[in-house]
Amino acid sequence: MKTPAGKECPWFYGDYYRGRNVEECRLLAASNQQWTRDLCKTCPVPAISMANSCQYMKLRAAVTRPITAIFQRRVQVTAYCEKSKRNVLEPQIGCGECHALPFEFKVKE
Ligand code: SF4
Repeated sequence: MKTPAGKECPWFYGDYYRGRNVEECRLLAASNQQWTRDLCKTCPVPAISMANSCQYMKLRAAVTRPITAIFQRRVQVTAYCEKSKRNVLEPQIGCGECHALPFEFKVKE
């Protein structure tokens, strides 16, 4: 479903049927974090979901106020792989268990 920022996010839920206006982020809700619409604008989750759809990678999100963003609220994401049982440092790439890194290219002769 498209977020208020116009990006496709698997964690966003919106119900606008017959005048309803229910919106929520189910990823932040799972961590008992307060969601507001402005968080979707800078959230990294839509880009991560587009780049990596691994079924074993689980995302956790938290709302923080980083110094680099001059204390604006931002979504910070951490990822964990349930298959390799370790943290994923680059969620857009994955842990490398299912898709070995670096990729090998073979040139046919
Ligand atoms: S805050 Fe991030 S994870 Fe939550 S609905 Fe918005 S884009 Fe999706």
